[in-house]
Amino acid sequence: MDTVKVIINGKECIAEKGQFLIDIAKANRIGIPHICHHEALRGLNSCRLCIVEVTEGKRTRVVTSCAFPAMNDGLVVETNTDRIKKMRKVLLSLLRAEAPDNAYVTKTIKAFGATDSSRYEMSTGNDCIMCGLCVKACEEVGCTAIATVNRGTTKKISTPYDMESSDCIGCGSCAYVCPTECIKMEDKDGIRTIWGKEFKLLQCNVCGGYYITEEQREHLLKRNIPEESLVCERCKKEHFSREMVKVFMK
Ligand code: SF4
Ligand code: SF4
Repeated sequence: MDTVKVIINGKECIAEKGQFLIDIAKANRIGIPHICHHEALRGLNSCRLCIVEVTEGKRTRVVTSCAFPAMNDGLVVETNTDRIKKMRKVLLSLLRAEAPDNAYVTKTIKAFGATDSSRYEMSTGNDCIMCGLCVKACEEVGCTAIATVNRGTTKKISTPYDMESSDCIGCGSCAYVCPTECIKMEDKDGIRTIWGKEFKLLQCNVCGGYYITEEQREHLLKRNIPEESLVCERCKKEHFSREMVKVFMK
């Protein structure tokens, strides 16, 4: 594995060549605010809250740390300069105007400073900040069932024509990654409801608990995921713990 040396806020960090700055910072316990970054997905460069100042040679510029890979030794990164704080404040103000009542947005704003959103039109009853994580997650799953629709103030994430989508397998990945928890998903009496569509949930072969939808199972099998590995997360963990114990008891 090729490694590079990066200095973040004066701290020397050894990173994998090509690793994104936000992940290097996290691995070195340096917090960079972000909304649209999820470790399972590549940087979306959408909320831009993770901006940092990067100096390479004599050149200093502002970049989004979720989409900037460390390719060379000697990169100097500052996460909290006056310029960054000022720019971040504007971004937070916009975010607040977008979803003023959302708990996650309120928490993020509280953590990174007060904002003045008086210049912007405030949304009402909106929790979606259009970060795009849900759409990306759906693409990664291989479904592309949801997308950004409409423009301007009516812009939103939805299925085509707000109808039940035949591409949706009810896996819930979009809801799991949504930072503001605004995608409604309900599991009740063996039925999952999401994006206006109902899915029958299957029971885990081991413990009998409900865990995936029929459509999700078909989707996984088509992708050559072995049938025997389709057990719920809790059983997977228990199996792993049992195997660990066996190894250490030898
Ligand atoms: S639940 Fe449907 S829309 Fe959401 S990620 Fe899965 S397939 Fe895509
Ligand atoms: S629904 Fe959630 S994940 Fe999707 S764009 Fe809106 S805030 Fe982001």
